Amino acid sequence: MRVDKLVLRNYRNYAELKTEFNKNINIFTGANAQGKTNILEAIYLVAMGRSHRTFEDNELIKWQQQAGIVDISFKRQDMENVLTFKFIKDQNKEILLNGNTIKSKDLIGLLNVVLFSPEDLALVKGAPLLRRRFLDIEISQANPPYYRQLLQYNRIISQRNNLLKKIRERKADASLLEAWDEQMVKSAVVLVNKRLEAVKKFNMLANLMHRKLTGNKENLAVYYEMSGAQEQNPADLAAFYKKYLQENQQADIFRGSTGVGPHRDDLLLYVNGENLKTYGSQGQQRTGVLSLKLAELEFIKSETGEYPVLLLDDVMSELDGSRREHLMAFIRDKIQTFITATDITSFPEMSFAKFYRVTEGRIME
Ligand code: ATP
Ligand code: MG
Repeated sequence: MRVDKLVLRNYRNYAELKTEFNKNINIFTGANAQGKTNILEAIYLVAMGRSHRTFEDNELIKWQQQAGIVDISFKRQDMENVLTFKFIKDQNKEILLNGNTIKSKDLIGLLNVVLFSPEDLALVKGAPLLRRRFLDIEISQANPPYYRQLLQYNRIISQRNNLLKKIRERKADASLLEAWDEQMVKSAVVLVNKRLEAVKKFNMLANLMHRKLTGNKENLAVYYEMSGAQEQNPADLAAFYKKYLQENQQADIFRGSTGVGPHRDDLLLYVNGENLKTYGSQGQQRTGVLSLKLAELEFIKSETGEYPVLLLDDVMSELDGSRREHLMAFIRDKIQTFITATDITSFPEMSFAKFYRVTEGRIME
């Protein structure tokens, strides 16, 4: 997977930009607030259908302008493709693949990217939602039907929850739940099976990375935690969910939400047997996140045959020398990478990299 060209028009602080990229490493340096992250954001946006920084498309259009464009040419399975995003103020964006309009939900899996930014430390420390999202994005990029299943599951849950609230307000009868329960169980089983399978593989990959990064001193283990389950993984998932929904119907109605399911599950991270979230030092947590990100690259490669594009926003300065070297050795000549940094000095001699200087929405090679 490789991004060859980027065109921006009235996007963020770029009035007009046309640039071609190196197939190895691309490094953007410049002072704060010049537009380095905006470049990475544009690539992420086209890959995922939304910015990693905002849900609000209007924010992406250059101030005082009515419309903006992001246009990316990329190579996937040796085929050249063009994805175009057209933003018009206060309207839905238009997405085109090679000139033909497509839906946002059909984007996933076309251009695969892995983003690593300082906020990703929250992957260890933050709420379960972040770890679920990490896992879902990883599986979805490798397996787009999973993403459609996930959207469907979320719709089922939201409709079931609406019904629960109506029942609570005595505006609907509890017998109506049966049909939703059946759908929820079916969909949940598909999702959780896929997640369990992915986590099994991912656990192995993440530990491999983590051992390398720590000179074999630490082991990282990744477990899938099913909400509501006593034992690790119930053998019969459908029976487990059915039983839960029946036994907890009153509680669900009282709360107006569904207490158990893939939307409540979590990933547990352990280093040398200790919970990384609770007991890990800052450095261990940071290394853990790096291991997860590198494992994500390997996971997507092993599922699709191609490495995703790697976006490293401001993380080089956060890694110590040996982590940085390890990271460079890992990506070199293998993974197309886009790196931002304020300081050029964190990058010693790299003949295989292309350097760009970013100043006030302009780029110089
Ligand atoms: P840092 O080193 O601090 O991370 P950066 O170079 O990554 O900086 P970006 O986040 O890429 O900076 O760009 C931020 C700049 O873009 C800010 O100056 C901000 O005001 C400007 N900006 C953001 N959105 C818009 C917009 N819609 N129109 C014009 N300028 C914008
Ligand atoms: Mg930035």
